[in-house]
Amino acid sequence: MNRARSESLFQEACHYLPGGVNSPVRAFRSVGGTPVFMQKGEGCYLTDVDGNRYLDFCCSWGPLITGHRPAPIVKALREQIDECLTLGTPNPKEVELARLLVEGVARDVKSVQRVRFVSSGTEAVMSALRLARGFTGRKRIVKFDGCYHGHSDALLVKAGSGLVTFGQPDSAGVPEDFVRDTIVLPLADREAVEQLFAREGDQIACIIIEPVPANNGLLIQTPEYLKFLREITARHGALLIFDEVINGFRLQFSGAAGYYGIEPDLITYGKIIGGGMPVGAFAGRAEILEKIAPLGPVYQAGTLSGNPMAMAAGLAQLSMLTPELYAGLEEKGRYLEEQFNRMDNLPFRMCRVGSIFWLYDAAHERPVRADQIDRESMKTYAAFFHHCLDRGVYLAPSGYEVGFLSTPVQRSDLDLFLSIASEFRR
Ligand code: PMP
Repeated sequence: MNRARSESLFQEACHYLPGGVNSPVRAFRSVGGTPVFMQKGEGCYLTDVDGNRYLDFCCSWGPLITGHRPAPIVKALREQIDECLTLGTPNPKEVELARLLVEGVARDVKSVQRVRFVSSGTEAVMSALRLARGFTGRKRIVKFDGCYHGHSDALLVKAGSGLVTFGQPDSAGVPEDFVRDTIVLPLADREAVEQLFAREGDQIACIIIEPVPANNGLLIQTPEYLKFLREITARHGALLIFDEVINGFRLQFSGAAGYYGIEPDLITYGKIIGGGMPVGAFAGRAEILEKIAPLGPVYQAGTLSGNPMAMAAGLAQLSMLTPELYAGLEEKGRYLEEQFNRMDNLPFRMCRVGSIFWLYDAAHERPVRADQIDRESMKTYAAFFHHCLDRGVYLAPSGYEVGFLSTPVQRSDLDLFLSIASEFRR
């Protein structure tokens, strides 16, 4: 496959952009080689700047549940361009999207009563955390090793995603004082949570978790464990925050909270909610959200928050998310998982929840905690990644990252990937 133009663009990019990229995992550091510069996306296919086509399982890291450029989103954006791009005033689209989100999610998750829109997942989580501290009047927060919640200071500890790809537990530039009240526990370990709450339960503002942790492999937790987190936080007056930036609208309309039948106090969203535009949101009980300015003392604001372009894309996207759509994705996911795991000569097994999948080292049990992932297996993933890339399949460029299915993917596309995978030799 000729990728001469990608090579030369990367050289040029490195003169202007640190590492040639605007987000670290895109740089292929974990898998080696030169990042591919993509030009176009259509359905479930990408075309690079040299004209090569790839089946896309990265899906822009999750937002593209209905693939690239779905007609309703393109139409909604075209119509919005004729009205305005940003106003900085209240606008009808944000009310429509808020209604669609709150009423849709609240069918399953009653605690979703109010929402505030922001411009990224990082911002959503950062604001939800401030709100949890403001609401409870407590300082300490609990997160889990391997859960990524964006790059705000307090959460950049043992966070998976790009950090784990680069073998860094934490980021430089985050003063110790800023993370002194961040407690990191291992996933799937009730005792660790019980001991902590027994010791200092009255100082803990919240537990934050990705209900289906998908940033450091796919570390699927049991429903019982998630229910236990709900109970213990409620018992101690702490909030439970589900970070559903990936899970939200991906597992079903009501996300992981609906999927597991759990009512968190706050839920954070991003990715799918923007239909490919930069959006995030945090939602929860009215009593909590009304502590936010202008109603309450917790400050939070944004120049482009709720901007009509992003709201129009989000509205078109969420309007497409029917139960049939999720049933179709589940069926494709099940087929992919079953067929992949039939190939017992491969060094990986596939695990999956709905349309999120991950390849883990076949020599080990499926990991449920970050420390159970074998770093050595990432070398094999790198070889597998390039094997697929050179044959027209674009997986995430790190073995710690998950893959996503989108609705345009057909059985024939999955069969193409399966046949390419079957030819892989270490
Ligand atoms: N939380 C989770 C669970 C995420 O997966 C991500 C992004 N991968 C974020 C927060 C941060 O979102 P963003 O990249 O939009 O800032």
